Amino acid sequence: MDISITRNQSPKAKPTDASQLGFGKVFTDHMFLMDYDRANGWHDARIVPYGDISISPASTVLHYGAEVFEGLKAYRRPDGEIQLFRPRDNFARMNDSAERLCLPELDGEFCLKALKMLINLDRDWVPSAEGASLYIRPFLFGNDPFLGVHTVNRCVFCIILSPSGSYYKEGVNPVRIMIETRDVRAVRGGTGYAKCGGNYAASMRAGEKAEQKGYAQVLWLDGVERKYVEEVGSMNVMFKISGVVVTPKLTGSVLPGITRRSCIALLKNWGLPVEERLLSVDELKQAVQEGTLEEAWGTGTAAVVSPIGELCVEDVPYIVNGGRIGPVTQKLYDELTSIQWGKKPDEFGWTELVK
Ligand SMILES: *Cc1c(COP(=O)(O)O)cnc(C)c1O
Repeated sequence: MDISITRNQSPKAKPTDASQLGFGKVFTDHMFLMDYDRANGWHDARIVPYGDISISPASTVLHYGAEVFEGLKAYRRPDGEIQLFRPRDNFARMNDSAERLCLPELDGEFCLKALKMLINLDRDWVPSAEGASLYIRPFLFGNDPFLGVHTVNRCVFCIILSPSGSYYKEGVNPVRIMIETRDVRAVRGGTGYAKCGGNYAASMRAGEKAEQKGYAQVLWLDGVERKYVEEVGSMNVMFKISGVVVTPKLTGSVLPGITRRSCIALLKNWGLPVEERLLSVDELKQAVQEGTLEEAWGTGTAAVVSPIGELCVEDVPYIVNGGRIGPVTQKLYDELTSIQWGKKPDEFGWTELVK
């Protein structure tokens, strides 16, 4: 399938100060769009000026939340080239998410080709300031113009690009996390493993409550027994307990993070033992009390690695590693960011140039 290009005739001024970018607020001059319907499959792949999309007020996505998305970044290397980090994994995961919501499958290689064309056109938007990157948001939604509840006939796939500033403006500082005991994010058999908007809609209330109490994010427990740790906000979570890195296993309600996968590969490469298993809050509390909880951190594309300095369990605060970033957390952060920004050779074949 060909990809048509309609150039933006009135390009915007590019932000000059990367520290003012924030996250997901500024968008580039173009976006990628492609339509689907049952009879024709995917068609009309096009790069067009960034702008509003018109949909029916009856559109499936507005009423039944038929939407999945991805999040990845393009990084400006010291030599000026632009690279992506494990982009195929994102499009593969998007298909897993789409399958769960009965949205049509996409050709991952075609999506990657489209993404590279789009970035190339908006190359000058990829920031080069320390820690800044081009955040990439591919998304797919059901767009039938009627209210009957059934799997969709029409869909839209879109990619938008947003130059974003460093996640850590004041250095990599540990965050405070609150364990949520009332709301749950996902259950086995539900959509927890899918990256879909609905999961986020269901998580807002707990997030807001945590924020009001002064916590950065929520640590979710399993939805059935509310006993096992699952993940943090929009990050997977890892704990170093007595020299072993423990991370919740992918039971179906946890999002299979690409940063998580990359951290596990790095840790194993360094000879550190990693266990993917069930981890109960009781075990965590005990580890804190016995002084064996050495480090805790979250992993995700936005923050890369985010140290956890405090865990609040039923209103009791537990301090991790004196509230400071631990050595393994720091090493993971340094190594991953060096690979992503092309400051270090990539032994794993994770990066891909945008030419
Ligand atoms: C995207 C996401 C993550 C992190 O995944 P990465 O691929 O590492 O960015 C973790 N949890 C949730 C709920 C997510 O949506």
